[in-house]
Amino acid sequence: MAYEALSLSTLSQMEDYDPNSMPVEQAQQLIRQFLHPVTETEEIDILHAFQRTLAEDVRSPLNVPPHDYSSMDGYAVRHEDLATGGIALKKVGTAFAGNAYTGSMGKRECVRIMTGAMIPQGADAVVMQEHVRVDGDSIVFANPAKKMQNIRLMGEDIRQDAVVLVKGKRIGPAEMGLLASLGFAKVRVMRKLRVAIFSTGDELVQPGHALGSGQIYDSNRYSLTGLLTELGADVLDMGAIRDEKETLRAAFHAAAEKADVIITSGGASVGDADYVKQLLDEIGEVVFWKIAMKPGKPLAYGKIGKAHFFGLPGNPVSAMVTFQQFVRNALWVVMGQEAKQVFTFKARLANQIKKAPGRTEFQRGILSQDAEGSWEVKTTGDQGSGILSSMSRANSYIILPTGQGNVEPGAKVDVQLF
Ligand code: AMP
Ligand code: MG
Repeated sequence: MAYEALSLSTLSQMEDYDPNSMPVEQAQQLIRQFLHPVTETEEIDILHAFQRTLAEDVRSPLNVPPHDYSSMDGYAVRHEDLATGGIALKKVGTAFAGNAYTGSMGKRECVRIMTGAMIPQGADAVVMQEHVRVDGDSIVFANPAKKMQNIRLMGEDIRQDAVVLVKGKRIGPAEMGLLASLGFAKVRVMRKLRVAIFSTGDELVQPGHALGSGQIYDSNRYSLTGLLTELGADVLDMGAIRDEKETLRAAFHAAAEKADVIITSGGASVGDADYVKQLLDEIGEVVFWKIAMKPGKPLAYGKIGKAHFFGLPGNPVSAMVTFQQFVRNALWVVMGQEAKQVFTFKARLANQIKKAPGRTEFQRGILSQDAEGSWEVKTTGDQGSGILSSMSRANSYIILPTGQGNVEPGAKVDVQLF
């Protein structure tokens, strides 16, 4: 198959390629080569634009602020009238925010002005009201005034025609406000991603039903729904599928028709009922590997028709870790979002970690500040890949590189906040 040929040639060009133990960074780069952003866009109300991706640069149609205005409640003056303190000026009017003073303001005159009001013609400074004494229409100023004091300048935030937001920007609360401040009611965004998810496993029971012998609750579909919702994708929930090859095949086909991305959990390793790899080989195009990471060794990536396919491991922690370390970055690209740096920094390790060299480990960490205010991280305890409560107690990953062995307390380790 064309895709497979391409992937294999790409793989063979990579140094030290070992499909049974691929380094994390190599796998991330490899996936990146097969991703293309969606191209369809739509125009939507800015109120509904949260977590969407800008489809084009946004230029400002106006200056922000659109006029010079006062940043204080006080008096608009000519600064040269107040070369010294103790001078009285005559009040000739009042300027409110949204209701400007349009009269004239001559020499030795002033205008009462509120925060946000336009600066009257002739004025070039504002004196805060705490620094004056009011005697009817005569206002006595305690201090000299400096030119432009307490005046916000037209265009000081954004100049007309400047690029304010770039294509690919994820729209968060600040961007929603910013678009509104420029007068935009609508914004052009990339269309939402449709992501089909299903769990696989004969042992899975849905929450709300009684557990039989040997059964467990399906949790992956729920954590994955949370992770995808956080990303701003549309989740097509296809339920839990039994470990039956033909049932799975039908589910793969159905998902590929509707979705941009298919994410499954379970069935990706080498057990007798693990059909994910076999099926991908048969109906899709596959780059399948084991990644040199812990947790999360088996991870399938490939395509079924036009849809990207990620086969995550079944263990609940592994499913979340592989999502956060691989799938999320990939989906950002497919959503058309600008390249993002996931923030990693160093912190002091509080407890010992036992580790054998050979795999990158993503241990669940609890990051906190010690008495002096410096950052310290400890593990959540048992790091088993089935211990989902560790993901809930943790606020970060402690990332230990491939070559790393045991780590002693006090060592600096890489930490990535959730
Ligand atoms: P598998 O990858 O299918 O071999 O599954 C690995 C482990 O994860 C097994 O113990 C499964 O029972 C468990 N597991 C698989 N899918 C889920 C799921 N959706 N929710 C919770 N645990 C699961
Ligand atoms: Mg299974």
